[in-house]
Amino acid sequence: MSESRNVVIVTGIPGVGKTTVINTAVELVKEKHGEEVKVLNFGTEMFEVATKNGQVKDRDEMRKLPTAIQRENQRLAGEAIAEKGKTARVIVDTHTLIQTNNGFLIGLPEWVIRAISPKTIVLVEADPEKIALRRVDDATRARDAQMVDDIEVHQQMCRAAAVAGGTLTGATVRIIKNKQGMVEEASAQLAETLME
Ligand code: AMP
Ligand code: MG
Repeated sequence: MSESRNVVIVTGIPGVGKTTVINTAVELVKEKHGEEVKVLNFGTEMFEVATKNGQVKDRDEMRKLPTAIQRENQRLAGEAIAEKGKTARVIVDTHTLIQTNNGFLIGLPEWVIRAISPKTIVLVEADPEKIALRRVDDATRARDAQMVDDIEVHQQMCRAAAVAGGTLTGATVRIIKNKQGMVEEASAQLAETLME
């Protein structure tokens, strides 16, 4: 019997439009195939842990916590996600690299990625200039302002991190470009990956 994996991990740096691409892809799959996709948000899972422990008041404070605490919360969130991801078609909305005060935290370390065992790791990417503008415009979040050059480096590093995740689990790695005004195109590609 061939193995079957039902989890697609969707990553992308803050401001890339990841959540919009995900929501649109989920609607597409429902319309075209009559199938439900469950979206599990890693940040939300971690925020629940951090709130319970009185460590933060909003989700953008989490990446400023000491990295040891972030790793522990990440482990607990990873276990919860892996458990919830056992049924149906699932998207895990998360990051390959989180910008902390002490360098990049690996979003999908070995113990997390193995527990989730995704079929594909998707990188949603966008033009660094557009990402910089979207962060400034997002009043709902405390997004970090970043130079366009730093955004570009972050995106490149995320490719490397995604490949490492694929190496550990055999997951494929897919880059999906979220071009300005073309979210439907990006979502169609994600829907295709979900239904593969
Ligand atoms: P988001 O809503 O996707 O921007 O995620 C909110 C926050 O959750 C991020 O800024 C991180 O602090 C945390 N987070 C999300 N995914 C991970 C992960 N895989 N590992 C560590 N922290 C994460
Ligand atoms: Mg998001």
